[in-house]
Amino acid sequence: MSGYAAEFMDAVRAKNSGEPEFLQAVAEVVDSCNIVLDRHPELREAKILERMVEPERVIIFRVPWQDDAGEFQINRGFRIEMNSAIGPYKGGLRFHPSVNLGILKFLAFEQVYKNALTTLPMGGGKGGSDFDPKGKSDGEVMRFCQSFMTELQRHIGPDTDVPAGDIGVGGREIGFLFGQYKRLRNEFTGVLTGKGLNWGGSLIRPEATGYGCVYFAAEMLATKGDSLEGKTCLVSGSGNVAQYTIEKILDMGGTVVTASDSSGFVYDEAGIDREKLAFLMELKNVTRGRIKEYADKYPSAVFKPVDPALDHNPLWAIKADCAFPSATQNEINAADAANLLGNGVKLVAEGANMPSSPDAVRAFVNAGILYAPGKASNAGGVATSGLEMSQNSMRLSWPREEVDERLHTIMRNIHAACVNAANEYGTPGNYVNGANIAGFLKVAGAMKDQGLV
Ligand code: NDP
Repeated sequence: MSGYAAEFMDAVRAKNSGEPEFLQAVAEVVDSCNIVLDRHPELREAKILERMVEPERVIIFRVPWQDDAGEFQINRGFRIEMNSAIGPYKGGLRFHPSVNLGILKFLAFEQVYKNALTTLPMGGGKGGSDFDPKGKSDGEVMRFCQSFMTELQRHIGPDTDVPAGDIGVGGREIGFLFGQYKRLRNEFTGVLTGKGLNWGGSLIRPEATGYGCVYFAAEMLATKGDSLEGKTCLVSGSGNVAQYTIEKILDMGGTVVTASDSSGFVYDEAGIDREKLAFLMELKNVTRGRIKEYADKYPSAVFKPVDPALDHNPLWAIKADCAFPSATQNEINAADAANLLGNGVKLVAEGANMPSSPDAVRAFVNAGILYAPGKASNAGGVATSGLEMSQNSMRLSWPREEVDERLHTIMRNIHAACVNAANEYGTPGNYVNGANIAGFLKVAGAMKDQGLV
């Protein structure tokens, strides 16, 4: 990085020094978009990038709640309203002990470009709390969600800011949050997405991120005359995104041999078939158990606990054709990328947000494999949230096939937009540049049209 980009990053670093994930996400976009600013000096003069890295609004609040033992507990709540140039703020809520301002700013920043790529009218935002739902009773989760929403409801609305789920926020949490919003505002509106089917949710929303990621991967393989049929795939995570990634890979004829959670991973050489996937879904969504129980049940699988002494994750050292990281940020480091490439991986499609470290991204791009950054390949979730918002506004629900077809079309279009932007700016096959440039140009154009905003 040199010249304007380097000076720009120095300034961003000076202002956001304790936020490494945010700086990582910004550096990647700046690196891709430098050439755009060279060709469009009017965007540099208008200080579009300088404006984009400053959230429109950051809300931080206290979330007091009472646990089952009667103890008072205090967590911190956040909502980052990053950019509303092309629509109301839109992006998930994450409940995880690692949540802090920098992580949510990185997620909100990525969300802006991702939402632009979907072609739907959604700005970017993200929120959450350092609350850990793991090991909490339903009553504790409900009381936390009610307290969280008691403050958040002042800042959101169907035309202002529409949160959804993310790590630690699934159907149960969205239900509690929606119920409290409705009580306080006396409004039944599409203020959250990922709602239950009986109360305004969309068919295919739970499946959308995983399905969309696999649709995107299939589009990438098709550019080489290839498909997922017969491919061995690694999937990390075992939550919402991982589960439906596995399901769609099975639909497309691939074999998935891994799944993980924060305690370790299972390697099932025989493959995770539909019956085993149903067990995994029950384990993670209903009984809320740990991934080791999968290996306890199926003798074809072995469980490997996380080993903090290792400089790499042995999951990524298993020989496979395709990898779908679907757990969390920076879960693939340079050593993991080297292991994947050494074993001849052909494709990496990110279901999680920013799961590859900058060194890993560089290694994938330099190796010329099919590598899809999360802001393109996992955009199916928010795209289907956009479809849920449309159905809520029209007060009707589309059938499953219709939503799935729309999702599939959106993923094809995102793929085409990335390919075209990468070609136009002289880096054919580079989906990182393609996604960043296509997303940036759309948001930048809208900001310019709207004056000094
Ligand atoms: P879930 O909470 O449903 O599942 C998260 C999974 O990742 C769990 O298996 C969890 O294990 C694991 N995990 C979380 N944090 C860590 C960690 N620090 N180390 C190791 N494993 C970890 O979340 P989602 O499936 O919804 O989200 C997964 C990823 O996909 C995130 O990056 C999210 O931002 C991204 N994403 C999600 C979308 C959605 O629609 N849900 C849309 C677009 C992106 P454990 O249970 O042990 O914590």
